[in-house]
Amino acid sequence: MGKPKAKRLKASHHDSEDAASGAAASAIAESYNEQIRPLLDAVDRLRHLKVTQEGIQLPTIVVVGDQSSGKSSVLESLAGISLPRGQGICTRVPLVMRLKDDISTEGSQPVLQLEYGSGRVVTTSEAKVADAIDEATAEIAGSGKGISDAPITLVVRKRGVPDLTLVDLPGITRVPVKGQPDDIYDQVSRIIQEYIAPKESIILNVLSATVDFPTCESIRMSQQVDRNGERTLAVVTKSDRAPEGLLDKVTMDDVNIGLGYVCVRNRVGDETYDQARAEEDRLFKKHPLLSKIDKSMVGIPVLAQRLMQIQAAIIAKCLPDIVKQINDRLSRSSGELEQMPPDLNNVADAVRAFFHIVKRACTSLEKILVRGEFDEYPDDRHFHGTARIAEMLNAYAKKLPAECPRRGGDLFLMEEVHVLEETTGIKLPDFLPRSAFLVMLKKKVETVVQMPHDLVREVWDYVEDLTVKILLHHSEDFPQVQPSCRRAVQGLMDKARAQSARHVKELIEMELVADYTSNPDYTKTWSELMEGHGKFMEAVKDHSQPSALTLKGFGRVEVAHMRIHDDLAGQAFDLRARLAAYWRSIVLRLVDGLALHVLHGVKRLAEDDLEVALSDELLGNKMAGVERMLASSPATGSKRQRLKNSIVLLQQSKEAVADIMDRISAGGEV
Ligand code: GDP
Ligand code: MG
Repeated sequence: MGKPKAKRLKASHHDSEDAASGAAASAIAESYNEQIRPLLDAVDRLRHLKVTQEGIQLPTIVVVGDQSSGKSSVLESLAGISLPRGQGICTRVPLVMRLKDDISTEGSQPVLQLEYGSGRVVTTSEAKVADAIDEATAEIAGSGKGISDAPITLVVRKRGVPDLTLVDLPGITRVPVKGQPDDIYDQVSRIIQEYIAPKESIILNVLSATVDFPTCESIRMSQQVDRNGERTLAVVTKSDRAPEGLLDKVTMDDVNIGLGYVCVRNRVGDETYDQARAEEDRLFKKHPLLSKIDKSMVGIPVLAQRLMQIQAAIIAKCLPDIVKQINDRLSRSSGELEQMPPDLNNVADAVRAFFHIVKRACTSLEKILVRGEFDEYPDDRHFHGTARIAEMLNAYAKKLPAECPRRGGDLFLMEEVHVLEETTGIKLPDFLPRSAFLVMLKKKVETVVQMPHDLVREVWDYVEDLTVKILLHHSEDFPQVQPSCRRAVQGLMDKARAQSARHVKELIEMELVADYTSNPDYTKTWSELMEGHGKFMEAVKDHSQPSALTLKGFGRVEVAHMRIHDDLAGQAFDLRARLAAYWRSIVLRLVDGLALHVLHGVKRLAEDDLEVALSDELLGNKMAGVERMLASSPATGSKRQRLKNSIVLLQQSKEAVADIMDRISAGGEV
């Protein structure tokens, strides 16, 4: 620590020499007024706007010290006014003191203003300021001995005061005095930490000359946040009461005070401010021990000068970053507000918002279910609607038997023979009765009836899931209407399912009432199959022929059992050939017809039905659904309000520093 300290002491010595020369002093004052003061004003404006609420730290000189170390007395000396002083804990809330050198108060009373709470401003006088602070404290922290971290701001406009803003904090005490809460130490240290932790804070550590510095709580605390004391300045009070060894204490620097020590003597008893300054001056000049301390380290004027320099340096250093933070936070808050659901003020707003949701949901659905555009969900296969529905249709087409279904184990043509036996009538032989064909057809079609039903159910279940998900996504700003949306979709899907079930039923019934196809494939296939008819009949009739033969389209068949049914064998063969040929037409119709039905239904849903169903659900019943949208959730409301407030604050802050930043960038330096 030795080296930097020597340099620092020399620097401040040099400064005080400058200050001693009148011309130089006025030059400094002038450049100070031009350069530093606007910066200080800007920071004060920010502080006044409470920009710290947005988490932006301002460069601040924070006064800390153990209880009765003389904090308030030091402020009093700097401000040249009387502050509440006394036994026990007087400073119970942070007191922000803004000292303003105001030429207009020259020769008249200083102007004192107290600001606290949300916008309370009280103009007071030097005589009454102590009471006014007590009153404000009582209002904030109660009339007992409790403490609070809500600050009071005292603006002092007075000719000759240093332009400084300092924060006086409650004193640190290990042992609660009578009436203080038991956890007073924790409460106070929490407040102090809050103020001194930010790197933008300068710690003015008030130490009484009467105590051993290393035992001070305030030293311990400031070292926790500023280990090497780089932003800590010590002011030693009560020099008059313990002059012995003070020189050693401040030159040894046992407690790592990076910014140096200033020893002072504050107002004692009923002295006036001027008497106190004169007494201090005399003390450090004449006292045999105290006069040995370098003049750059003693007296309130030196302290004021040091603080102003430090303050100017820290502000110049921090301001550009503060401006950046303000801009960052402003754009973040604005962005967040834009992301918020729109502010609904009346039914018209709500209806507009509602149709916006519907439009977006329907567009999404159309894209993924009809047009097959997946730009909204490039990686989520579940949302690739057209592809998934095509998959379902393909699986269904595959599942439908390509060949006319047969029961396993039946002997060749015996099923046909039994049907023919029952449908026979008084008729010419070898004439295939149409009723036999229809009976067979019914039996075969019935084996696949469930499949189209399953398909439409699967498709609508999938579409329902997609629709609900998309709708919930687009209506997430209005959770209060999501149950209605869900209900509307469910109702719509139930209808679609019922309609599809009717359609499938009709498809099947149509297959059963008539046997018709214009498909040339039917005749072609039937003729091909019938080519084996003669060979088959020969084998049935001529018992000497082998009983097994291979037939085109039927494979290897056994005919021995047909020999006793030779009257019906020819018709049975024909029946089988016709059914086999006709089955292909049935499958084709079941697949094509259903595919078109499904696509049509899905398209109508996305293009019309969903909008109608949602409108009925939300606009019906005297707009009950829309009313619900208007009653936006309290969480959303308060978040929006918070963001709006913060945007207003940040905007004002931005304006407060705007011309300063112009100055900084124009001048190239501050
Ligand atoms: P705080 O609790 O840290 O704010 O301390 P105060 O400013 O209230 O001071 C506590 C007591 O010390 C008061 O009675 C002051 O008058 C007294 N005091 C403060 N500074 C000095 C000083 O420099 N010399 C003398 N003799 N007394 C002082
Ligand atoms: Mg005090």
